[in-house]
Amino acid sequence: MKDSTLVTTLGRDPEQQQGIVNPPTWRASTVLSPTVAAFRNRRYGEPGSYGRYGTPTTAAVQEAVARLEGGYRTIAVGSGKTAISATLLALLKTGDHLLVVDCVYGPTRRFADGMLGKLGIATTYFAPDIGAGIAALFRPETRVVFLEAPGSWTFEMQDIRAIAEVAHAAGAVVVMDNTWASPLYCKPFALGVDVSIQAATKYIGGHSDLMMGTITTTEALWERVRHGVFEVASAAGPDECTLALRGLRTLAVRLERHMESGLLLADWLRRRPEVRRVMHPALPDDPGHVLWRRDFLGASGLFGFVLEPCSGAQLAAFLDHLELFGMGASWGGYESLLIPTDPAPLRTAVPWREPGQAMRIHVGLEDPEDLIRDLEAGFARFRAAA
Ligand SMILES: *Cc1c(COP(=O)(O)O)cnc(C)c1O
Repeated sequence: MKDSTLVTTLGRDPEQQQGIVNPPTWRASTVLSPTVAAFRNRRYGEPGSYGRYGTPTTAAVQEAVARLEGGYRTIAVGSGKTAISATLLALLKTGDHLLVVDCVYGPTRRFADGMLGKLGIATTYFAPDIGAGIAALFRPETRVVFLEAPGSWTFEMQDIRAIAEVAHAAGAVVVMDNTWASPLYCKPFALGVDVSIQAATKYIGGHSDLMMGTITTTEALWERVRHGVFEVASAAGPDECTLALRGLRTLAVRLERHMESGLLLADWLRRRPEVRRVMHPALPDDPGHVLWRRDFLGASGLFGFVLEPCSGAQLAAFLDHLELFGMGASWGGYESLLIPTDPAPLRTAVPWREPGQAMRIHVGLEDPEDLIRDLEAGFARFRAAA
């Protein structure tokens, strides 16, 4: 079955629930066992054994995400950041070495430099275009390589296949933050990834009203990751799981629109005199385009661009009066967003030296002509404020 069919069918079983289309929102802390034998045999760590491990509602989301990402099984936790932190804690111990792509999500970098550093786990950041050259950075104690393709804010692709091959030869595992592509537009396990993470907060939720993260692993890593994750995290709450399941049902159609409108706006921005360059791997002249074409099935509506050098007043004139683009953290909802970013403090392997203001845009589900009109008016104010 194709993904657009799977998102409408996975994780529900109307026959088991009186014909009702959607699974109920099961809430639980205590789960009773009918006999002492059943109590002693209850499957700890499985949804339905205790509320912290989730309920059948959690199991439904987990099954759907595991299938869509092409992994063995999935754990749903309270946020994307929780999924990242818990996975790294599950896989690493004092004395280990971690390799992280330089364009990683800012809070992932802070976690590596802060908490993991405090635990005696060393991190080396590498250039996104390193490919098989990553072999030179391996130490005997390197255990994990962390990827995020394309990267946060600057959207660099990575050669996931080449990096995974080197990592596996060295006995290390590959974790990938797959939030940008969602489980539909990148199938990380087919590329050699061992653990895939989603901030379900973003496209799976799709409506800017839930926080959830998912951790999907290979069969080989499942027990180790699951036990480690539950040492530090608990399963996502039942309401979040219900909202995530609802979001999943429309993910395929939403993403098609995000991709189409995103490319339209990327191409429009590329030709604006106020814009130095656009960072979007689905644009044919993007440095990551060849890898994106080879490994991804589509593009989301999130990308970056760099403005020509401008004053703070010009930037404010551009952003402060936009009608349709909101300014706020997170993305992946139906609404469009536009924020200024500052990659410089978050890049150590490849210093960020662009002279203009970097921007991150999320192209939502509004009509793209209305979005372009809004940006056009913004650029007129931008020029007038020069
Ligand atoms: C938002 C985001 C996260 C964190 O997700 P939360 O649910 O907000 O904790 C992780 N990775 C990427 C790439 C993100 O954009």
